[in-house]
Amino acid sequence: MKHNISKNLLILLACGISIECSAAEGLLDLDKDENRSGFENKVPPLVTKELQVESLGYFQGLLRWSLKFIGINDIPNFSGNIYQKGDRGYIDKIKQYATTSYSADKMTPFMVAYPANEHDIKWALKFALENGKKVVARSGGHQYSGKSSGNQDTIVLSMDNFTTFKRLENGLVEVGPCVKLTDLASQFKKWHITIPHGICPQVNIGGHAQTGGYGHLKRSFGLAADYVQAFDIILADGSLKTVTRPKVLPETDEERLNQEIFRGVLGGNAGSFGIITKYFLNCIKDEDHKRSWGESNIRAYNNSVFKDLMKEAQEWTQLIERKEDDKLLEGLDFMLSVESGTWPLPPILLVELVYSDPHNNVPYNGQFDSIIKKAKGGRNLLTPILD
Ligand SMILES: Cc1cc2nc3c(=O)[nH]c(=O)nc-3n(C[C@H](O)[C@H](O)[C@H](O)COP(=O)(O)OP(=O)(O)OC[C@H]3O[C@@H](n4cnc5c(N)ncnc54)[C@H](O)[C@@H]3O)c2cc1C
Repeated sequence: MKHNISKNLLILLACGISIECSAAEGLLDLDKDENRSGFENKVPPLVTKELQVESLGYFQGLLRWSLKFIGINDIPNFSGNIYQKGDRGYIDKIKQYATTSYSADKMTPFMVAYPANEHDIKWALKFALENGKKVVARSGGHQYSGKSSGNQDTIVLSMDNFTTFKRLENGLVEVGPCVKLTDLASQFKKWHITIPHGICPQVNIGGHAQTGGYGHLKRSFGLAADYVQAFDIILADGSLKTVTRPKVLPETDEERLNQEIFRGVLGGNAGSFGIITKYFLNCIKDEDHKRSWGESNIRAYNNSVFKDLMKEAQEWTQLIERKEDDKLLEGLDFMLSVESGTWPLPPILLVELVYSDPHNNVPYNGQFDSIIKKAKGGRNLLTPILD
């Protein structure tokens, strides 16, 4: 397994998963209060005030619908829905995770367009080029700093219609950018496959695969991006490309271009290189890790439990320092996270353990048992199911 970090003790003491992920994206200054907020589905007063003209939207909408009916559209040839400022529904359509954190001028795009197919994306890009507009893609809208929104220069392409999700004969999984992580996880479970990914139910794979995709399996298996074998992307000139995981040493110009786009998209700034319409994932298969095993405990934070667990961590670290890590079973991961409390929830201690069975035949040897016992010393926050 590419990311097998066997025999290493890796402990994460994070201040919560969201902070960990923000740091990964490198976009937020967490000292700023504005970056700590972000309430789902609310529109800040500034935006609401600016958009009070929405009552005109009924007439505007009727006019636009009539024009569309006779073949005149905001974006010529575009067949999907379009919402512009003043249209009925516009306020709802501009919402994304960071809407509450930024001022109206940064979060009220010129239009939100819902491409129905790949042709629509090309028409939208052409229109943007001819009219001096920027284009941003939006899948789950969970970019912390509002990058899947914009100002009056911006057209948001909302990818809601791109939700393909199927297994291909070559063993890959084809998935559209607007598939939610929760849907991904539940379908993968049925297929006995998986990839590492994050936990927020509303995050979509569209942005997630481009910003890494950090989750509980990352210590053993890496990031979601590591499992992207290929993707379909529409570039700024309107061309559709299938970009594949590059060879180690590309030889032709075409292969070099492929490599640059692949690395740029998955290792650069999300959304900067084109609009992704499909990912092709090479998933981890249950059958290759038959004896794998995992445990997750969410507890109310408790000082003495935390100290006990840290002692365990220390002992593992000392083994590694003394180069006696062969005493640790290969493929064990221990992740400890502390999340600050938000009323009414108390601070949380999250203990996650994974045994990945890297050789596909070695059973778990009970090496986690003392950690599990100590973790269970705290008050269980959820239900006894976790016990
Ligand atoms: C509450 C919350 C919890 C989170 N938890 C985790 C976690 O556990 N692990 C983790 O790794 N991350 C986590 N994140 C971060 C999240 O994975 C990233 O912000 C991710 O990029 C969001 O993807 P999206 O499609 O939902 O968001 P969007 O805002 O739609 O997209 C994010 C970026 O990708 C671009 N983009 C989206 N779709 C496309 C497309 N089709 N083509 C080209 N560019 C596109 C956008 O323009 C934007 O720049 C979390 C974020 C939030 C808000």
